Amino acid sequence: MAAGDCLFCGIAAGDVEADVVRDGERTLAFRDINPQAPTHVLVITKEHHPDAAALARAQPDLLAELFRDAGAVADDEGVSDSGYRLVLNTGRDAQQSVPHVHLHVLGGRSLGWPPG
Ligand code: 5GP
Ligand code: ZN
Repeated sequence: MAAGDCLFCGIAAGDVEADVVRDGERTLAFRDINPQAPTHVLVITKEHHPDAAALARAQPDLLAELFRDAGAVADDEGVSDSGYRLVLNTGRDAQQSVPHVHLHVLGGRSLGWPPG
């Protein structure tokens, strides 16, 4: 997919509006437009990678950075002590709807398991 067609590349470039909570050198965190929990933030790489496995193959250091920054978001949101869930939906059966890697940070309420 060309970056110009990708919604999250648009957000990373500042062409599409988002409620940004953390702007890192190589990652960006912003609130999900359709939150599923009191805290629901998406952490993306500014560079386009289709999913977590592709990112891990191409740039394992950047994948680690994504998780580090998700932890910082959880701290900032005040959910590190109460707990939170990190989710990487990949592909059709997992309902991945945006083909640009995004790590969901969900917290602020008790989360059910197993997921639907
Ligand atoms: P997925 O289902 O691919 O794991 O997650 C995609 C997420 O992106 C969904 O939770 C959806 O609500 C969110 N989303 C879709 N479009 C936008 C948008 O334009 N802005 C923001 N902030 N979130 C979006
Ligand atoms: Zn993209």
